[in-house]
Amino acid sequence: MFTKKIFIALAVITMMAVSAPQAKAKQDILFGGASIVGVYYQVALQISNIMNRHQGSDYNYIGRPTGGSVFNINALERGAFDFGVAQSDRNWQAYNGAAEWDGKPIKSLRSVFSMHPETVMLVARQDSNINKVEDIKGKRVNIGNPGSGQRGNAMDVLRIYGIDPGSDFRAEGLQHHEAARALVDRNIDAFFYTIGNPSAAIEEPATSVDINMVHINSPGIKEMVAERPYYIMTSIPGGTYRGIDEDIETYAVTATVVTNENVPDQVVYDMVKTVFENLDELKGSHAAFRNLNVEEMLQGLSAPLHPGAEKYYKEQGWM
Ligand code: GLU
Repeated sequence: MFTKKIFIALAVITMMAVSAPQAKAKQDILFGGASIVGVYYQVALQISNIMNRHQGSDYNYIGRPTGGSVFNINALERGAFDFGVAQSDRNWQAYNGAAEWDGKPIKSLRSVFSMHPETVMLVARQDSNINKVEDIKGKRVNIGNPGSGQRGNAMDVLRIYGIDPGSDFRAEGLQHHEAARALVDRNIDAFFYTIGNPSAAIEEPATSVDINMVHINSPGIKEMVAERPYYIMTSIPGGTYRGIDEDIETYAVTATVVTNENVPDQVVYDMVKTVFENLDELKGSHAAFRNLNVEEMLQGLSAPLHPGAEKYYKEQGWM
């Protein structure tokens, strides 16, 4: 009798232990940025901070530095990341099988929302006497690492200005934090960079050496911009960077958050909902984000929208 009571008590305890709520495992979400000195890395970090602050019981977001747009698009396809940042022109090329993706389109790429505009820039050390794009002939110039978005923009600019990277100047393929250092150390004369403003990536070299920024606005550039929906002509207002007092005319793309079709709808839905419910927090987290607004964040998406994002935008009556 006594033994039977103990047995029943033990059985009850065991059943309670088994059915007791277990601590729910958090889901790791990897978010690819770009160079540590760039704005993309801030997109990945600041969105991760917002997610961990407001959805921390479900998710553990991790922002990662990467090689840039091209790297992120390819990593999303391999399933190495859940989200990444990429230029609008690179998304278009990847989804439609152009440029690096010629003959091998990435049909799994999905858009989430747009972020800040990014200008295509050529930044030179003032003493290298580069006052227009053509002046890079005979110089040493960083066009960007192969995983970056700007490398393709640099190649377009060079083609349009009729400059050959092999024979007309010495082209380097450095990651951006290396390029900024190399400019200051006089190992290169100039670098191309496609990035949001203001950015530490330009501010830092601009405070160490006198810099110059050139207009990228030839008729050929304007023609290309008019032909392609993801480019616009714009200018970087004078005073944005130390030593650059005049407005610099060039063209721009949009930084966008992208994902893969295999990322679950709920994960994408929770991310966009939390970001838009805390948009002021995101806007306040970096100077390049201060003009973000719902209307523009839903524009310029060149890969199809992920259904998890679409669901939230429809619920809000935004589409
Ligand atoms: N637009 C650059 C790229 O796609 C990155 C700029 C940044 O780091 O903010 O590689």
